[in-house]
Amino acid sequence: MNVLVINCGSSSLKYQLLDMSTEEVLAKGLAERIGIEGSVLVHEAPGQEKVKFEQPMKTHKEALNILMAALVDPSHGVIKSLNEISAVGHRTVHGGEAFSASVVVNDAVIKSLEECSELAPLHNPANLIGIRACQELLPTVPMVAVFDTAFHQTLPGEAYMYPLPYEMYTKYKIRKYGFHGTSHKFVSAEAAGLMGKKIENLKLISCHLGNGASLCAIKNGKSIETSMGLTPLAGLEMGTRCGDIDPAIVPFLVSKGYTVQEVDTMMNKQSGVLGVSGISSDFRDVEGAANGGNKRAQLALDIFHYRVRITIGAYVAAMDGVDGIIFTAGLGENSSTSRQAICDHLKFLGIKLDPVANSNRGKAMIISAEDSKTTVMVIPTNEELMIARDTLSLVK
Ligand code: AMP
Repeated sequence: MNVLVINCGSSSLKYQLLDMSTEEVLAKGLAERIGIEGSVLVHEAPGQEKVKFEQPMKTHKEALNILMAALVDPSHGVIKSLNEISAVGHRTVHGGEAFSASVVVNDAVIKSLEECSELAPLHNPANLIGIRACQELLPTVPMVAVFDTAFHQTLPGEAYMYPLPYEMYTKYKIRKYGFHGTSHKFVSAEAAGLMGKKIENLKLISCHLGNGASLCAIKNGKSIETSMGLTPLAGLEMGTRCGDIDPAIVPFLVSKGYTVQEVDTMMNKQSGVLGVSGISSDFRDVEGAANGGNKRAQLALDIFHYRVRITIGAYVAAMDGVDGIIFTAGLGENSSTSRQAICDHLKFLGIKLDPVANSNRGKAMIISAEDSKTTVMVIPTNEELMIARDTLSLVK
């Protein structure tokens, strides 16, 4: 059974076609600059050369048309007909309080997603466009929505409620939702396997450290705390996002003449590692500059490592202990120096890294020393596989 996984951004579309009998990726690709000049779709299948389609794609539906033609193309295709796609799984960012698990898409689900769009104005409308376009092109194929927020619906009230007047929650649904749930769920399940223990008996902290970054405390398999909030702006310092700051900074900047929109753009797109270093939002560039002696680049990294560390400390308190810490996503999987810098100050947890194991990249493995009291692991995340698994289980 083949499952197509679709991840629509406002001007991009990522996809993977997986054969779920083996969980093998048959083909994958990325369309960028949809709706603007210079649209391009790059399609690849294992063992074959990449194929690049440089042609106008005014809408996500046009990009989907190109990718579906690529999937069945006699020379670089991987299936004979679109009938070989049994289901489509859609990465969907915000499910609000309506969805605590993945769901088969129907009219009621679409209506709920429209209602959640206010909470994720950059993401949910794009996800909906992808769902609608797929429904038009594959009208008989079941679609499943897999939510970034769903895994965190187990947060207790004291973790998800903000201490604002209670009516802000009842009127506007202002609360912590959390994101990266598909990734945190996937790596925590893999970590339990690596530790040879049941997830129901473990206290884990998952550190998803990429361009967007969040931490999650997972107690007995359930998310009980996470660092992103109503939106993905909260929590850690990120590539371009500021994470947690004193909320009074916003009205202060407005009093200095910035518009609310300008402050919003500043916090989302001009802050974080980019804003502090003045160099780049990409951790590789910033690590390179710091190694070359650039002090602001070093400060940007120090803030990042410090914030991850103190958040780990807070989550140990939230769970009254920790058995395992997981590093995942671009930086978490690849930067041994960042993992070392974060763990160096976690000796109070009895954490000791094995320098040889920690020098590995992108492989699922334990990187703590044998006598470390807490197990530290690198687990490559695989959100597409998680989406495909959820999709399969719902349509089977
Ligand atoms: P993601 O959002 O998960 O794709 O992660 C992207 C981030 O991971 C970018 O800031 C990259 O610079 C960072 N990253 C990827 N590989 C490395 C590496 N080898 N060392 C440091 N950072 C890396």
